[in-house]
Amino acid sequence: MCGIVGYIGPRNAAEVVIKGLKKLEYRGYDSFGIAVSSDQISILKKGGRIQESFFNLNELNSGLVIGHTRWATHGIPNDTNAHPHSDCSNNIALVHNGIIENFLSLREDLLIRGHIFKSDTDTEVIVHLIEEFYNGDLLYAVRDVIPLLQGSFAILVIAKGEKRIIAARYKSPLVLGIGDGEVIAGSDVTPILDYTPDVIFLEDGDLVSIRAEGVVIENSHVIIERLVTCVDWSREDARKGGFDHFMQKEIFEQASVFSQAIRSVDYEALKTILSGVKEITVVGCGTSYHAGMIFRYLTEEFARIPVRVEFASEFKYSPPPLHGLLIALTQSGETADTLAAVEIAKNYECTTLAITNVLGSSITRVAKNTLFMRAGPEVSVAATKSFIAELAVLFCITDCLSEGELRTQSLDSAHKAIEDALLIDIDPAVDLLKNAGTVFFVGRGWYYPVSLEGALKLKEISYIHAESYAAGEMKHGPFALLSEETPVVAICVEGPTYSVMISNIKEVKARRAPVIAIGNKGDTDLCAVADVVVTIPDTPRVIQILTITVILQLLAYRTAVALGRDIDRPRNLAKSVTVE
Ligand code: GLU
Repeated sequence: MCGIVGYIGPRNAAEVVIKGLKKLEYRGYDSFGIAVSSDQISILKKGGRIQESFFNLNELNSGLVIGHTRWATHGIPNDTNAHPHSDCSNNIALVHNGIIENFLSLREDLLIRGHIFKSDTDTEVIVHLIEEFYNGDLLYAVRDVIPLLQGSFAILVIAKGEKRIIAARYKSPLVLGIGDGEVIAGSDVTPILDYTPDVIFLEDGDLVSIRAEGVVIENSHVIIERLVTCVDWSREDARKGGFDHFMQKEIFEQASVFSQAIRSVDYEALKTILSGVKEITVVGCGTSYHAGMIFRYLTEEFARIPVRVEFASEFKYSPPPLHGLLIALTQSGETADTLAAVEIAKNYECTTLAITNVLGSSITRVAKNTLFMRAGPEVSVAATKSFIAELAVLFCITDCLSEGELRTQSLDSAHKAIEDALLIDIDPAVDLLKNAGTVFFVGRGWYYPVSLEGALKLKEISYIHAESYAAGEMKHGPFALLSEETPVVAICVEGPTYSVMISNIKEVKARRAPVIAIGNKGDTDLCAVADVVVTIPDTPRVIQILTITVILQLLAYRTAVALGRDIDRPRNLAKSVTVE
């Protein structure tokens, strides 16, 4: 995956594109580059994260530029593999998001035809193919090339002497912002909203000729009109506000994110989608998978409907017998494995419901129904507010299926509870974690997936090795790893699992491992067994899922800050995973 931006209009296009690429860095940050169209095509690109000082904007006075921030799939991250890529004569330049699966055979043919390749990327074949077909009209050439490509792509292409950008999309996202005498293209809306709220979400198969005066879209050789949507995400949503990191900002937005997500679910529409559903399969990856597991516990307990939760990446290789409803969870709406799972589900007698944060994303076109989390743009790579928003929508589904069981547990109290959780003192716990080499997270019942998410947060942003187990499983192997050096974070709150969790903590302590317990106020028994106790606000049980999640997110965040980690862009990761 990667971020692509293109601009055509009266402004300094390089400035618009570079600013836009910075906003898309969450999609990949292995290298960056732009192609500037003036008398000729000039390409400026480099390995590593975007450095604005690399460009001399005064010298780049053009109204037509395309740019790219990369997450490498083919060819190591370095200067030459950075996009844009150009043809042999440097007359055509292209940026690409996606993977060209048949690039090897295309490359062999092109080599035989005398093309000289400069990079190891799959992408470069596209620009040489366009060169093959180019006869003074870039649109014609791209139109001829598209049927030869297998895989996924969103591309922007420019050619010397042509005052336009040609864009095409297939299974990778691409959005056009339509301004007054200017057009900006981006992988999502964030580079666009500074200039215009009016956007077009392109569909698979769209091929577009973009000029400053407007766009002409064709699909399957027919000119079509696409709906212009007015996006109301405020520009400030995509900025850091007064916080040190986007992740911190996004954690602190969660009280209102939860309430807003709950409010925005249309219960009547949901009832129709859920009517007659007798079994549910949930697919997701990473954090979304954990949200799915929490949903399973809640729905089986409150609605007595069986729920199966599958990794989307495994599901497609051995899809189980499917009936009822398939729920696909993906923040970005572009997660390749989750999209594939929904495609598979369409072959079965089951209906599909996507839950996503991104309006117009690919999953919204693949699934029969979609519910939006409406968490606003999540910039930090580690998912936080999108997890809480995903839970909000899933809680509504459980509530609907159980005829109001969760409402009576008072979802309305969540806002205040999350706000209170954000203020809890976790300093002693951070002190204990920051020097650890390995940390275990344990919980039981629905707190087990909560602990899985806590371990994932810690490992992804602090780089400390963290594992989560259902507490009862620890003695079936992991106990061999316990020592004074391996802190255990244990979720031990009132409810059916409380007393057995106290016993589990005692077993851990007997192996000399320090214990950070998350528990209820005034729990003297817990204080007697744990080294550090973090107490959560008094709330209904279901709401504790949210408050404990917030505490675990803060533990990961604060530990990673103490270790000086790159919070918003942890190494080796990218925000939306659009490859298998
Ligand atoms: N497959 C291309 C590459 O490795 C594009 C990857 C991306 O989407 O960033 O360069």
